Amino acid sequence: MTIPAGAGNTRRQIKLVKNFRTTVVHMLPSYARILGEYLRSGGEDPRDLPLRVAIVGAEPYTEEYRRRIEKLFDITVYNSYGLSEMNGPGVGFECMEQNGLHIWEDAYLTEIVDPKTGAPMPDEEVGELVITSLCREGMPILRCRTRDLTRFLPGECACGRVHRRMDRILGRTDDMFIIKGINVYPMQIEEVIMTFPEVEQNYMILLENDNVSDTMRVKVEVRDEYFVEDMRILQNLQKAIARRLHAEILLTPHVELVESNSLPRTEGKAVRVQDLRCNK
Ligand SMILES: [Zn+2]
Repeated sequence: MTIPAGAGNTRRQIKLVKNFRTTVVHMLPSYARILGEYLRSGGEDPRDLPLRVAIVGAEPYTEEYRRRIEKLFDITVYNSYGLSEMNGPGVGFECMEQNGLHIWEDAYLTEIVDPKTGAPMPDEEVGELVITSLCREGMPILRCRTRDLTRFLPGECACGRVHRRMDRILGRTDDMFIIKGINVYPMQIEEVIMTFPEVEQNYMILLENDNVSDTMRVKVEVRDEYFVEDMRILQNLQKAIARRLHAEILLTPHVELVESNSLPRTEGKAVRVQDLRCNK
């Protein structure tokens, strides 16, 4: 039985899961974190929910983020992809292999193109996903530019399905920002900071201008047990994150470590970047 719960109202969501003994839930990755935090703040263990599986999608997130959700609830997390223009969630889903999303190719024709020129990308290279619906009669959509960046995965899947697989969404053509002439995707930042076990799952990227040049500040929530009096431990962590970020994006952002639950959170899609340069 499917229980349509809508978004938000965390207390009600938890009540529904408990009352119906829900085993599978479909949600945003950032909402999984909010749900976990909510339970913990009330003294409950998220692993005690009857959940077995979560299908997660609708915003980009990294592999490390997935593993953290799995651990938090002690469940298996599968990636999903869809968009409102194409019947909502259901363009592609991961199989048990958790290694790329099989596209429902009998319902959708998919292409990967160069976001600037619209030309087809060579096999297995990252570009913008373009979709044509094949089953719709009333309102067919031809070559819809999704602005989502991904690539087709090579080879056959071990599960035996022959539908083509696409990689997880690596970002959007419109969430890339340019700082000091360098193109940066928020997912590049997440990929780096999530490798640090001391780091919580919430972070924020602030783009500012100090009247001389553009600067980037990355605010990172640190787990309570690491947010200690000993400043040296935090300073070392701060330096280590800045170093790794520099290696990834060739810029050294100002890394600011903050207490867990101190950054703003939204119940809808997470807002990761604040560009304060435009407000001048
Ligand atoms: Zn498969």
